Amino acid sequence: MAEILKAIKGMNDILPPESARWEWLEDVVRTVMRRYGYQNMRTPIVEPTALFVRGLGEVTDIVEKEMYSFEDSLNGDKLTLRPEGTAGSVRAIIEHNFLYEGGKRLFYIGPMFRHERPQKGRYRQFHQVGAEVLGFAGPDVDAELILMTAALWRELGLKVGHDVSLQLNSLGQPDERKAHRAALITYLESHAEQLDEEARRRLHSNPLRILDTKNPAMQALVEGAPKLIEFLGEASLEHFAAIKQVLDAAGVPYQVNPRLVRGMDYYNLTVFEWVTDRLGAQGTVCGGGRYDGLVEQLGGKPAPAVGWGLGMERLLLLLQEVGIDAPSTAPDAFAVVFAGTPLPAVLNAIEALRAKGVQVVLNPAGKDGPASPKSQFKKADASGARYALIFGPDEVAQGQVAIKPLRDGGEQLVRSLAATGDWAETLLPAARS
Ligand code: ATP
Ligand code: MG
Repeated sequence: MAEILKAIKGMNDILPPESARWEWLEDVVRTVMRRYGYQNMRTPIVEPTALFVRGLGEVTDIVEKEMYSFEDSLNGDKLTLRPEGTAGSVRAIIEHNFLYEGGKRLFYIGPMFRHERPQKGRYRQFHQVGAEVLGFAGPDVDAELILMTAALWRELGLKVGHDVSLQLNSLGQPDERKAHRAALITYLESHAEQLDEEARRRLHSNPLRILDTKNPAMQALVEGAPKLIEFLGEASLEHFAAIKQVLDAAGVPYQVNPRLVRGMDYYNLTVFEWVTDRLGAQGTVCGGGRYDGLVEQLGGKPAPAVGWGLGMERLLLLLQEVGIDAPSTAPDAFAVVFAGTPLPAVLNAIEALRAKGVQVVLNPAGKDGPASPKSQFKKADASGARYALIFGPDEVAQGQVAIKPLRDGGEQLVRSLAATGDWAETLLPAARS
């Protein structure tokens, strides 16, 4: 026997019936995005490594240790499997001068790659939905982006403020962060003996990230550190207040979390995360914020921007924890075909029904012909279909098919094969007819 090859660790196959949950989630995402006027964007999975180094910053978890980078064997170019979607989106809008006519609201759905230790809710290939708004500076789009995530949770059946909660912060502007950073370094230096190795390494490169530490021994130190909010000027505070007012008016509960800093360097003003306590350590389902500096940092004409990314695996795990299932994907009808029935008549009839939107699963015969009626009806039942279409040689010879309701009781009916258009719709559920 040939050796069996396996998928790469931390990279998952998504097969039925699980894939139906993914399709449902994607459908809901697209519906919600359309309601808010967000348009779909698709960028390559492989990008120049430099894009992420410049876009995310050298001293980030992603660039320091999580990227799948390699050399193009043809020309030696340094390439990386995208670890997130924002940098590529911004590259694309710069490359295509896409903000020429004004701002854009965009979204994407797709795989991302990070070399992390695989565990529940953390994989090496995972999938994100991302929304990015480019070219608008006001707090209205920040608020809209957050309201949109809340609408998505509700549409999926999650309770906002219960199953998922919103954490909010403002990172202010670069000069305000600079003043805070200086104060923070002074504070941390005066407590140098309490810093762990990672913190010491980051003290001068990225002290803000030290506040993000998961080391319990450093929690008290972090608690007492100077808070960024105390360094924010009037304009930053107003921007923050405007978002909070919209959320208050919309009844979306939130918690201001001054420790919320996010991993990327390019964020300013708004940052937010949707968190849950139902997924253990992998509790952040969605995170985002403003990144007004990134377009310029990547060589474009300066343009404000704000966005978020959500982890689809974590969201699906959460939905499962809460007990929310995708709507059924059972077919409308299951075609049972008895021995001796002429196949062209059967397939013609099924094709005509499908053309009218009826979902019909044909039970395939084996190499010795159709299975026994009993075993075919068992399969029809197991398929979840509402109707069995029974094609027997006698019925078909008379130009007819028998229709047996499988779920809600009711009489078996006989219908004309020549006139499928007259009765096809009776096989559809109310929601699709
Ligand atoms: P974490 O702190 O959990 O590592 P992060 O800050 O690195 O998250 P982001 O870069 O903000 O995550 O990505 C947005 C979302 O993508 C996260 O909130 C999470 O839901 C999801 N995500 C991030 N990394 C992974 C992963 N390795 N596997 C599955 N989902 C992930
Ligand atoms: Mg991470």
